[in-house]
Amino acid sequence: MLLADSYQRRFHYLRLSVTERCNFKCTYCLPNGYQKKDCEPDLSLAEIEILIQAFVKLGIRKVRLTGGEPTLRRDIIEIAQVLVAQRGIEEVALSTNGYRLSSIAGPLLRAGVSAINLSLDSLDPENFKAITGTGRLNQILAGLEQALSLGFQKVKVNLVLLRGQNSHELAFFQDWIRHRPISVRLIELMQTGENTLFFKQRHLSLDSIRQELIQTGWCLNPKKLTDGPAQVYSHPDYRGTIGLIAPYSPGFCEGCNRLRVTSKGALKLCLFGEKQESLRDCLGDISLQETLLQRVQTLVAGKPISHFLHDGRVGNTLNFSGIGG
Ligand code: SAM
Ligand code: SF4
Repeated sequence: MLLADSYQRRFHYLRLSVTERCNFKCTYCLPNGYQKKDCEPDLSLAEIEILIQAFVKLGIRKVRLTGGEPTLRRDIIEIAQVLVAQRGIEEVALSTNGYRLSSIAGPLLRAGVSAINLSLDSLDPENFKAITGTGRLNQILAGLEQALSLGFQKVKVNLVLLRGQNSHELAFFQDWIRHRPISVRLIELMQTGENTLFFKQRHLSLDSIRQELIQTGWCLNPKKLTDGPAQVYSHPDYRGTIGLIAPYSPGFCEGCNRLRVTSKGALKLCLFGEKQESLRDCLGDISLQETLLQRVQTLVAGKPISHFLHDGRVGNTLNFSGIGG
């Protein structure tokens, strides 16, 4: 069984949000902090297990745990263990703001998580606080160093580029990866339902940065079939690499290989889609697996060709905290 849509795109990668709660107040995501919207609980460990068993049957090979802040879940290690234990899952990754990374990097690695994406929007403590609402930059950097020294195979740093807020720090980030084997990924700010004004003020296209990289000797790496949307550049003088994630660039959606499930168990076919179909009524009992498999296949077949972000259409996505970016 395989998951494919009507544009011949195949899906092997699931981004699973395990909570929409977050303890940060990133200016572009949750500037007023997390506000509880309803009483529906996040998916339980048992529901996640039933969900993942079905997605593995449908050909999912990589799962990313995300949120909100996934490490706020007390059972995050158990969740990771359940995912890793599925025959067919080749990679379990985690996206985090790094708040708890120092204390849980070891348990995550022992559970079998092999890749960590850390959000790090500034290397300057004051600026970091202005962007994220937290003054814990040193604690987060210590967690990152710990993850590297423990031997995680893949450590990436995500930086959402904000005009006039952290765009001047690119040179610091480049210096920082001269001797560190870290992939820094520059993410172009995306418009959501809640950040329209902020987007207008802070959005910066990655085109000029791409030109600058090329002019200073950075070369585009060839892409592998399973790679994500980042275009990755390397340079002979740097151990780290720089990836560009430019959702407004032409062709971005053509290579889409991912699906998303929200923390309440809804399948979201596109980060910016209108459609969000709950799978939760099939997650209470393994005997409902056949219905679940069929429902997911039918829904995926109807995945839209593009996000239509260029037309200012952001679907029903108010922010990324429930979907995980
Ligand atoms: N809390 C975790 C974190 O920050 O890494 C995981 C969830 S967060 C929603 C996942 C990623 O989405 C982060 O790298 C974050 O910077 C990015 N993100 C959130 N809102 C965004 C926006 N409007 N445009 C671009 N990236 C965004
Ligand atoms: Fe929280 Fe991540 Fe959103 Fe920042 S980007 S507010 S850390 S969910």
